[in-house]
Amino acid sequence: MEKVKFYPVKGYIDFQKGATADIERFWEKEATKLEWFKHWDKVLEWEEPFAKWFVGGELNASYLCIDRHLYSWHKNKVALYWEDEAGNTKAYSYFQLYREVNKFASMLENLGVKKGDRVVLYLPMIPELTIAMLATVRIGAIHTVVFSGFSSQALADRINDTSAEVLIAADVGLRRGKYVPLKQIVDVALKAAPAIKKVVVIKRTSEEINMVAGRDLLYHDLIRDAEDYVEPRPMESMHPLFILYTSGTTGKPKGVVHSTGGYLVYINSTYKWVFDISDESVYWCTADVGWVTGHTSIVYAPLLHGATVLMYEGAPDYPHPDRWWEIIEKYGVTIFYTSPTAIKMFMRYGDERIKRYNLSSLKILGSVGEVINPEVWEWYYKNIGGERCPIVDTWWQTETGGIMISPVPGIELVPLKPGSATLPLPGIDAEVVDEEGKPVDTSVKGHLVIRKPWPGMLMGLYNNPERYKEAYWSKFKGLFYTGDYAIKDEDGYFWLLGRTDEVLKVAGHRLGTAEVEGAVIGAPFVAEAAVIGKPDPIKGENIIVFVILKEGYEPADELKKEIVKEVRKQIGPIATPQEIHFVDKLPKTRSGKIMRRVLKTIMMDKPLGDLSTLEDEASVEEVKAVYEDFKQMMKKKA
Ligand code: ATP
Ligand code: MG
Repeated sequence: MEKVKFYPVKGYIDFQKGATADIERFWEKEATKLEWFKHWDKVLEWEEPFAKWFVGGELNASYLCIDRHLYSWHKNKVALYWEDEAGNTKAYSYFQLYREVNKFASMLENLGVKKGDRVVLYLPMIPELTIAMLATVRIGAIHTVVFSGFSSQALADRINDTSAEVLIAADVGLRRGKYVPLKQIVDVALKAAPAIKKVVVIKRTSEEINMVAGRDLLYHDLIRDAEDYVEPRPMESMHPLFILYTSGTTGKPKGVVHSTGGYLVYINSTYKWVFDISDESVYWCTADVGWVTGHTSIVYAPLLHGATVLMYEGAPDYPHPDRWWEIIEKYGVTIFYTSPTAIKMFMRYGDERIKRYNLSSLKILGSVGEVINPEVWEWYYKNIGGERCPIVDTWWQTETGGIMISPVPGIELVPLKPGSATLPLPGIDAEVVDEEGKPVDTSVKGHLVIRKPWPGMLMGLYNNPERYKEAYWSKFKGLFYTGDYAIKDEDGYFWLLGRTDEVLKVAGHRLGTAEVEGAVIGAPFVAEAAVIGKPDPIKGENIIVFVILKEGYEPADELKKEIVKEVRKQIGPIATPQEIHFVDKLPKTRSGKIMRRVLKTIMMDKPLGDLSTLEDEASVEEVKAVYEDFKQMMKKKA
């Protein structure tokens, strides 16, 4: 078995620092790796808080992702494999993708869509979603993908915020063997979002659907009149490529706008560095295209590199818990990118069954979305990667467009530390600072900030420059505020500790939620944990822990004692939980992140706030019920 090769940290840090010292020179060189229709006049215009990259340059994302590959052997290689839960499959070569994208773009033009118009895509994980995105940007329109698991209200809010007039939807989505009636959800949403003039429906089934005359049109009819070729229009580097709403973990989602030139340059380089992606890669990212991870990892970055992308529609453990391993074996996936939430779910099923699958094609494993605890990291490394594949723990945000802190096996693989995202990428000036914005000492907790602009940086929040300034540039002068809490260790490695607004303030100490959750998961019977702070007049805050047990364990006071012991051992008495609650589900966003704010408001008997991105209402009901029982019990005791 081939062993992972590591390089000394110092060489990489020198290179990273060198690149970051002169960002304009560094990113200019990276920009030449793309094909531009017109060369830029200026690399960067930086007027805080607005950065303009490659000013005067012109390019087209659809051209770069597809047309460019038609002049080489890539023309007939698979660009996209698609498979659903039921095992239905489709494959598109780069040429076939090119055909479909052109027709789709022509259809949009026939509907009157022009440069700068917003097109809302409410589609499940089907190839038409990729096609629609590339078609939209081919003619300079701006896509807003709305995750197809969202309710009608969430869809209406996003349509209204972007004032789009065209919506592309499917009749149904597929999940756990059932149809999700997307068109019905659209009909309800449009009552509250009347600006939409045309709805194009991609009909996948023979299900009966309601069509509103004059508004709703069938894709299959429209495409018949479409041209085979639409010129990829040269777009200014700072022309918006897409608007995408954040996950809403911490509050009302923000409409993040990304540029064409800066975003593409950034993701082109960073996917090479982090995933060592090439035309030989079979790249599988399990996120939904409706999140930034999906935009970048399922659509733009792999296609820029002429790689083969895999797209899967369905739940991870349906119809059986080995669905994902089956797919890796079947397609010979080389790069696998998923979230700690998903890995934890598979840990609950145990590792025996995974051994039945041949996962030897894998070369690099990725993690994103939340802090990955060392236990989870080790499990992933051993059971999925066969102790052969480096794990790239990638820290980034919707706002950053691409990965910011991660190991970079595509350049040099530094020694990995389970639980640390390691070091910032070249050209990224990340730092941990105190409340005054001054860098903290080694191993002291603080705010993660970025000190210099980078090409993937958001252009702003759609139609809301004030919220943009307020959210990212008001806390510290001249520093991009990420809202995450971190430490830097003696090797300069970054350890993410959770969100700053979820930080636990206990007796004058500040503990990251991730620190305490990591300790709780250290107990061998814990599958998942969420921690919040509940205000206390004396201590500042009390630590409240919610726990999901592994299969085969029942809630018991003994287990609570074990958890307390584990936390005291790993962190100290200061972090002793005041209350521990056992639950079956935790409130999570649709992208799989724990919504601690929801737990907190329930514990404080406060209104729940924006729940549009909540995955499962039942989780909230369960926590409420558990908490009511707890209050009753405390009353009795008193
Ligand atoms: P909102 O901004 O609406 O509250 P969100 O922050 O969850 O939602 P995203 O942009 O999808 O929306 O998520 C980015 C956040 O996810 C980061 O700020 C960080 O808290 C977390 N995150 C992402 N990757 C990692 C990682 N590798 N390690 C730790 N945390 C991560
Ligand atoms: Mg955020």
